[in-house]
Amino acid sequence: MANQRCEQCGNQTPPWDTINCGSGDGYHELLCTSCFNARIAESTGFTDFENARLAPIRMIDSQGESHQFQFHFQLRLLGDRIALDGFELQGELPSGYRSQLIGEADDEVLVLLGRLVEKIRRALSVRHIDFRERRIIESTVRGRIEWDDSQAGHVPLVVVDGKEVSWDDLGRVLMSMEGWQFRLDIADPSEEL
Ligand SMILES: [Zn+2]
Repeated sequence: MANQRCEQCGNQTPPWDTINCGSGDGYHELLCTSCFNARIAESTGFTDFENARLAPIRMIDSQGESHQFQFHFQLRLLGDRIALDGFELQGELPSGYRSQLIGEADDEVLVLLGRLVEKIRRALSVRHIDFRERRIIESTVRGRIEWDDSQAGHVPLVVVDGKEVSWDDLGRVLMSMEGWQFRLDIADPSEEL
């Protein structure tokens, strides 16, 4: 997906770093994250907000150096709160591992970043599915519900251990536990499961 031009500063911006900003009268503007934050800061009066651009960080999982992940960060000011997202990219779109923290508008960004990195580290340290043997490793599967283009929204695509798993494949993995009970809990993107 090609870069898009921020309608405020004119910079060419990758899609993951843009926000489609709607005003009350149905008019939409495509802004880079930085211009979006500056606009929210102005309209809410949080002018102390640290509109930081955070460099990507490389991390490894429990399997060591051969499993490297590059995490990108997006910081958004949302009224009196801030959302900090960390995610991998495939091409220019978020894909794979993804984690979010919600903080207060006057929180220190680097403190939040440190907490988010710890949260990502915890996520990277656990494996839920043995994809080769198609079985659940312990008894818990944590993941994220996403859109599956090939299914036109009828069934989800789930992301487990940073990998896309079709609904069908998840079903096959579950069949290794035939006769067992299960519990399905849904949680906000910023909650820790
Ligand atoms: Zn801009």
